[in-house]
Amino acid sequence: MLRLSDLKTSESGIIIRVSGHGSFRQRMIEMGFVRGKEVKVIKNAPLLDPVEYELMGYRLALRRSEAERVEVMAAAEGEEKGWREEEGSGQGNDRLTDPAGSLLAHPIANRYLHGEQNHIRVALAGNPNCGKTSLFNHATHANERVGNYSGVTVDAKAGHFEYKGYTIHLIDLPGTYSLTAYTPEEVYVRRHLLQEKPDLVLNILDANNLDRNMYLTTQLIDMDIKVVAALNMYDEFQATGAELDYDSLGRMMGIPMLPTVASKGEGLAPLWDTIIAVFEDNDPVLRHIHIHYGADTEQSIERLQDKIWEHASITDKYSSRYLSIKLLESDEEAIKIVEEEAANSGAILEVSAKERAKGERLFGQNMQTTLANARYGFISGALGETLRGKKLDVHIKSGKIDQILTGKYTGIPIFFFFLFLMFQTTFSLGKIPADWLAQGVAWLGRWIEGMLSAWPALRGLVVDGMLGGMGGVLVFLPNILILFLFISIMEDSGYMARAAFMMDKLMHKIGLHGKSFIPLIMGFGCNVPAIMATRLLESRKDRILTILIIPFMSCSARLPLYVLLISAFFVRYQGLVLFSIYLIGILVGIISSILLHKWFFSKHEVPFVMELPPYRRPGLRSVMQHMWHKGGQYIKKMGTVILLASVVIWGLGYFPQGRKSLEDSYIGKIGHVIAPVLRPLGFDWQIGVSLAGGFAAKEIIVSTMSVLSAEHDSQDQPSSPLAAYTLMIFVLLYFPCIASVVAVKREAGPGWAAFIVGYTVVLAYLLSFAVFQVGSLF
Ligand code: GDP
Ligand code: MG
Repeated sequence: MLRLSDLKTSESGIIIRVSGHGSFRQRMIEMGFVRGKEVKVIKNAPLLDPVEYELMGYRLALRRSEAERVEVMAAAEGEEKGWREEEGSGQGNDRLTDPAGSLLAHPIANRYLHGEQNHIRVALAGNPNCGKTSLFNHATHANERVGNYSGVTVDAKAGHFEYKGYTIHLIDLPGTYSLTAYTPEEVYVRRHLLQEKPDLVLNILDANNLDRNMYLTTQLIDMDIKVVAALNMYDEFQATGAELDYDSLGRMMGIPMLPTVASKGEGLAPLWDTIIAVFEDNDPVLRHIHIHYGADTEQSIERLQDKIWEHASITDKYSSRYLSIKLLESDEEAIKIVEEEAANSGAILEVSAKERAKGERLFGQNMQTTLANARYGFISGALGETLRGKKLDVHIKSGKIDQILTGKYTGIPIFFFFLFLMFQTTFSLGKIPADWLAQGVAWLGRWIEGMLSAWPALRGLVVDGMLGGMGGVLVFLPNILILFLFISIMEDSGYMARAAFMMDKLMHKIGLHGKSFIPLIMGFGCNVPAIMATRLLESRKDRILTILIIPFMSCSARLPLYVLLISAFFVRYQGLVLFSIYLIGILVGIISSILLHKWFFSKHEVPFVMELPPYRRPGLRSVMQHMWHKGGQYIKKMGTVILLASVVIWGLGYFPQGRKSLEDSYIGKIGHVIAPVLRPLGFDWQIGVSLAGGFAAKEIIVSTMSVLSAEHDSQDQPSSPLAAYTLMIFVLLYFPCIASVVAVKREAGPGWAAFIVGYTVVLAYLLSFAVFQVGSLF
C-alpha cells in the first residue's frame, strides 16, 4: 500500500481513499482530498513535519500522521491503467478469485489488496453463531466450516469476489458479543477495526435476537465506523410472525439495514449494492449518530474530549468521543493508546480518573455498568418503536416492573395517578414549611418596621417593596422544591423515559415525538430549561412545535398564585382543583399542537431512538443535587428579576408623592386603563396591575398582590371562587415570562417568539372570557 506520506519531494500521487474516523475524513474531504485527485509533494518542513502539498492548484500542509491516512497510487501508474478498471461482470457473487484462507499466511495488513480504486474492504462482525461464516462462504464460494455453536471461527479468514465492477474483500472476523477488551477475540476484532481501518463493517445480526446482537452495533457506532447491517436468519424471524420496521430502525441508527438468509444466499445482492453506495458515500440512510449516555455522563465525555483535543494528533486515528467513552470504562486498550500516542497523556488520564470517580459516586455503580445500561436502553427504545409482535429479550432487570408500569392497561392510569400524587404532595406537604416561612417573613417585617419607623419612605421600600415582594415568593420555595424533587426522582429512576415511551403514540397523534414529552414535563418545573431541553429533539419541526406548547405546561412560578387562591377560595378538593388547572394547560397544549402542526408544518417525520434506561434506585445524592440546582435557579430569579420588579411596582404605587389614595398613584392609573378590558373576565384593576407585573415573571403576580394589599389594607383578591378560577386559567395561559420569550427567541428565532406572545395572550383572554361568562350563568 502506498501512502501519501511515502511520496518523496516532487513526486505525485493519485488519491485512492482517506481512512481514519468520520470527522477526520470529513475534514480531509472538505480540503479536497477526494478520490482521483492528483496531489504533489512540494517540500518537507525543516523538521520533516509537516509536509507541503499541492492539490487542485493550491498549496497546503499536512502533518505526517495525517498523510499516513491517505492512500495513493503513483501518478504515472494511474495514467497507464486508466482511471476505472474495465467494467466488471456485474453478475455478483459468483466470480471467486481468491479462495478463502489463501492469504492466511500473511500478516493481516496484506489481506486486503491495497492501492486499487475499485476495491472495497469489508470486515464481517457479529455475535458468534449469527451466520457470518455462512454469508462469507456464499459470497466468496469458499468452503469454511459452518457450525451451529460458538467459537467455530477462531481466526480471521479473507476472501474476495467481483460485483458490478468492484472487488469486494471480505474478512470473516471471530464472533464477539461486544468490543470490550476482555476476551482475545474482542481484542483481535477491535485492533483490526482500529488499525486496519476497513472501508466499512458489515455487521451481521441475528434478527431473532436483536436486543442482544445490537449491543455490538452500539459499540461500532461509538467507534464512528461506517456500518451496514444484515438482519440475518430473517427466514426464522418471519416464521415467528413478528414484524420489524427495519427501514425506520436503520434510519434511527444511521445504519442501512437489510434482511438476509445467509444459509441460502438470499438477500445478498441488495446488500452488496448498499455496501457500494455506502462506500461511495451515496447512501441516504448512513449517518453518524451519537448514543446519548445521559446528561451527567455526556458532560464527562465532553470534558475528556476537550482534553484530548488539546493535542489533536491522536484524533486523526481515533474518534475523540470513542476514546473518551472507553477511558470512562477504564478500558486498558484505550489507556494504552493514550499513553503511547497522546502528548498530554498524563492530563487526559487524570481527567478520566476524576470523571470516572464522579460518575461512580453519582450512580453508585461502575461506569462500565452505567454505559452498558445506557446502550441497552438505547436498543430497547429503538426496538420498542420498530419491533412488533415479539417480546423483547429481557436483559434488563426492569422487565417485570415494566410489564406493570408501562403495561397496556396499567401504564397510563399509573402515570396519571403518579402525576396527581405529585401535585397533591406538592400542595399538602409543602404547606407545613411554607407556613413557618410565612411566619418568619412576617416577624422579620415587623422587626425592620420597628427599626425604620423614623423614615416612612425607606420603611415602605424595604418592608413593602423588597421584603413583601420577595417574601411572598420565598414562602413557596418548599412547594417548588417538592415539585423538583418529584421531577428529579422521575428522571433519575428511569421512569421519565417510560413516560415518554408511553406517550409516544399520543405524541405522534398530535404531531410530536415521544421525546418531546420530556421537555414538556420539565416545563412544569420551569419553562426556560424546558425550552432549552428541546435540543434533544433532532428535527427542527419537532423542536419548534414542542417549544410552542411548553408555555402551556404550568411552570412552578405559577404555583404560588394557585396555592394562594385555592387556599382562600376552595375548602375542599384542593388537590383536584390544582390538578384540573394543570390538566387544562395540557389540553390546551394538545389542541394547540394539533392546530400548529396543521398550520405550519409538513408531515415530514424523522424517526429516532428514545432510550429506555433500566430502572435504577435514584441516588439520594444525585436527586438532591438536581433538586438544589433547580431550586437555586428559582432563588436566583427571585433575587434579581423579582426583587427589581417588586421595587418598581412598589414605587409605582407609592408615587407621585403626596397622593391621596392608591387609586391616584401611577399604578392605580395603569390599573384603571386596563380595567375595562379585564372586567368581562371578572378581574378588578388591582388584578390588572398584578397581571401587568406578571409579564416580567409570574411569581410577581403574587408579590404584587401582597405589595398592593399591604398598601391598600385589604385583600386584593378576586371576589368569588369563579373569578379565582378564571384568574388561574388566565395566568396559566397568558404570556410566558420574559425569560421564556428570550429563550424561545434564542432557540427558534424572533418570529416564533413574537408569535408565541400574541398567541398566548389572545388564547388566555378568549378562554378566560368563556369560563367566566359561562360560569356566571350558574
Ligand atoms: P458464525 O458463527 O457467525 O460464523 O455462524 P455460522 O455461519 O457458522 O452459522 C451458524 C448456524 O446458523 C449454521 O447452522 C447455519 O447454517 C445457520 N444459519 C446461518 N444463516 C442462516 C439463516 O439466514 N437462516 C437460517 N435459518 N439459518 C442460518
Ligand atoms: Mg463462523
